[in-house]
Formats: sequence, structure tokens, C-alpha cells
Amino acid sequence: MQVGNLSVEPIIDGVARLAATDAYRTGGGGKGSGEQDWAPHRDLLDADGMLELALGGFLVRSGERVVVVDTGVGALERGAFSGGRFLASLAAHGVGPETVTDVVLTHLHFDHVGWTTRHGEIVFPNATYRCDISDWEHFVGPDPGATRKLRPIEHRLEPWRGSGPLLPGIDALAAPGHTPGSTIVVLSSGTSRAMLLGDVVHCPVELLDDEWAGIADVDPALALRTRQALVAELEGSETPVAAAHFPGLRFGRLLGASGRRSWVVD
Ligand SMILES: [Zn+2]
Ligand SMILES: [Zn+2]
Repeated sequence: MQVGNLSVEPIIDGVARLAATDAYRTGGGGKGSGEQDWAPHRDLLDADGMLELALGGFLVRSGERVVVVDTGVGALERGAFSGGRFLASLAAHGVGPETVTDVVLTHLHFDHVGWTTRHGEIVFPNATYRCDISDWEHFVGPDPGATRKLRPIEHRLEPWRGSGPLLPGIDALAAPGHTPGSTIVVLSSGTSRAMLLGDVVHCPVELLDDEWAGIADVDPALALRTRQALVAELEGSETPVAAAHFPGLRFGRLLGASGRRSWVVD
């Protein structure tokens, strides 16, 4: 996909398949954990009622910059999560690890930092790694798994705080709640704009129903307010958006015709 002069490609690492009602059980009392909640949204599930979450990231080319936004889950099979294809998917776009200039992390959950390092070695040897400082402080140190994975990039880290410009055509938009430093990545060039939503939403249903729960939110109430603010901004805006786990990492739009929202895949 083109956003003005920027090119954006989904980079698939793997997939997670979860029973839809289980996925939303941690959601602080919102909808999604009952079979009946899904009745109007069966089109978002597969034939067996399973919720398919893509795993991976996005390749953004902006001028001289070769940017990876999120790095998938890594080469692992853990419960519903299965990854390992990230570097092959990048190679299919002609990008080797040494070509990547910047790694931008929407947040530091394990399924987004999988290919930051491997066996303690930095995967993208020439890249500057970037994330919100609030997530670094929340995960690195307190969380043993995140610490083991991320400590090796510390000397290559240029963190940001809150909203602001990151790179030419790439801005951070603070979207806290899922994690403290959860960020929406806004791509813009000329009059064109697109957004990478990270885990602010996991499934388009969360954009359609304000009473829906989130998944694995650190602060569910704040995450819901952040989602509602996003919905208000997107409704009828025609801005293409893709979240970190939407099927195939495809972009879509939130349309708001006659008070009834709908999700349309590009
Ligand atoms: Zn997450
Ligand atoms: Zn995630």
C-alpha cells in the first residue's frame, strides 16, 4: 500500500488461533466472552468460531529509511501462538536484517518484540530501536521474559515519550491503557494518512461496539477510553487503519453511515 511517498507492507510472522469467547475473558467485564455477543459478528470468526490473530509487523519505507513497526512473536510455538516466518517475509520484500534502519515498537508485549533479539543477539544489527519510555520502564526490569528479550537492545534504544514525530512521515500518537506506553503509529505524506493501531484494538469488533472488552489490557478502563477516542476520530474519516493482529494484517476503514458503524476491508 502507498501512503503518499511512503510504502507500507504487512510482514507476517505467524498466527494465533483462540476460541473467541476465551480471548475476551480477561476484558474487565466487557462483551466478547459470551457466545451471544458474537452472533452479529460471526463474519469476523472462522467456521469453527475461532478468532484468528495475525502475528507480525509492518515494513514502512520512507525516503532512505527502512522501518519495521513491531517484530512479531519470534520463532516459537507457545499455546495458541505460532511464529517464525518474519525474516523470510521481510526477505520476500528484498529486505535483509542489516538493511533495516529503525525498529519502532508500538508496545513491548512478547508477540511484538519476538524478532528484536534472538538468543541474546540483536536481529537487526544496524537499526535504532524505538519505543515509548513508559513501556520500557514497565516491562524491562519488572518482567523477566521482556527483560531477557530486550536488555540486549538497550544500547541501541532511542525511546520517545507520549506523542510526537519519530521519523520523516512517521509520528507517535500516545494510546495508553493496553500498556502504559501503547502507541498508534501515524503515517503521513502529503494529504495521505494511515494508522497502525498496535494492540489498541485486536479485532475490528472492538471498533464497532463500545461495550466490547479488550484483550490483555494493563488498565482496561483507560484502554476503553483510548479506543472510544480513536473510534470518534476514525468514524467517517476514510483513514485506512490496520491493527497488529487483524487478519492478514490488512488495512480497512471504519464507516459510520446513519449511526451504524461498519468495518470495510480495503
Ligand atoms: Zn499487546
Ligand atoms: Zn499483541
